[in-house]
Amino acid sequence: MSNIPAVETTSRELPSTYQLVPTRLQEKLDDGTTRCNLCPWRCRLRHGQRGFCQAHVNRNGTLYNLSYGIVSSIDIGVIEDKPVRHYQPGTKVMSVGGYGCSFRCTGCHNLEISWGEAELDRLARGRSTQPFVTPESIVEAAIRHGCQGIAFTYSEPVIWMEYVLDVCAVAHDKGLYTVYVSNSFVTHEALDCLVGSVDVLCSDIKSMEDSFYKSICGKAGVADVLDSLEYADSLGFHVETRTNIIPTRNDGLDNIARAAHWIRDHLGADSPWHLTRFFPAYQLSHLPATPVDLLYRAEKVARAAGLTNVYVYADQGCDCATENLPVSVFLDDSVESISAVKKCTASCCGDEGVLLKKYEEGRP
Ligand code: SF4
Ligand code: SF4
Repeated sequence: MSNIPAVETTSRELPSTYQLVPTRLQEKLDDGTTRCNLCPWRCRLRHGQRGFCQAHVNRNGTLYNLSYGIVSSIDIGVIEDKPVRHYQPGTKVMSVGGYGCSFRCTGCHNLEISWGEAELDRLARGRSTQPFVTPESIVEAAIRHGCQGIAFTYSEPVIWMEYVLDVCAVAHDKGLYTVYVSNSFVTHEALDCLVGSVDVLCSDIKSMEDSFYKSICGKAGVADVLDSLEYADSLGFHVETRTNIIPTRNDGLDNIARAAHWIRDHLGADSPWHLTRFFPAYQLSHLPATPVDLLYRAEKVARAAGLTNVYVYADQGCDCATENLPVSVFLDDSVESISAVKKCTASCCGDEGVLLKKYEEGRP
């Protein structure tokens, strides 16, 4: 377990209105910056700066989450859609997502919410009109819609950690399970925080090539991702892995074989691996959808490597939120009555909102 101090957020009363919530795993450094240790970016931020994910801001030396309770998307489906196959099969799960991500994938389908820069800017300036959704409201909505679980997905949930943990606590109290769908770019310390709160971890292995990771995240390498996955497995989470096979980017059968061998040797031959189909998006709009026969060839390679639970998704891409209904539909209420956010209710930010200086002025 890590020695880095965490700012506690779960022992307090849960916020009932929008406010900046101190982030977990922040550490004041001698040079006057405060470091976020939630993901391996480990952003070092000065007053007014925001992290790479854009969702965390340094306000007078303390890091705050801008998007606690701000839900970008909700959807309901079976747990197999996450994809998770070996945990409570056939049960219904409510998927929820926030704004902001630690990666900038060139083929991301969720740009508006995963990067979420426009909405995060509005939150930082005190101009957002998003609804604020309490952890209790999310769980009540899930139960009302007959769900047995809640999944955090559509972008990397670690940037939303404080909300994720609070929702998990309420969900467990009410007998729901919890799923965390991850890009696997998460520190050991953050995984330690999730123990006991998250039941299932569905994690990406996007490629076995460092060059692939460098193209979507300057700080990421294959070793970071695999290390995070192996550590999560050692902590006892139910772990399943997923690879979205993208033509010309990660579709080499040698790449598939290396991933399969790694899963066999580090997570076990029976560890479930999901092979999903890429559909063109954003900067990869010029690429074709993954040929279905390629997915089945990849499955063959994985089985030849000894994996016994390989699943092919020939008609479904990675977990996307592109066609979701408005959040208010699931909350059974109008956005206005859920409490549309204008400004943080804390007094520290003044009238101008919290944004003073953006991360892109220089990497901390
Ligand atoms: S990208 Fe966000 S979550 Fe990751 S270290 Fe930076 S501020 Fe923290
Ligand atoms: S594909 Fe996933 S990890 Fe990549 S930017 Fe989109 S939400 Fe983030």
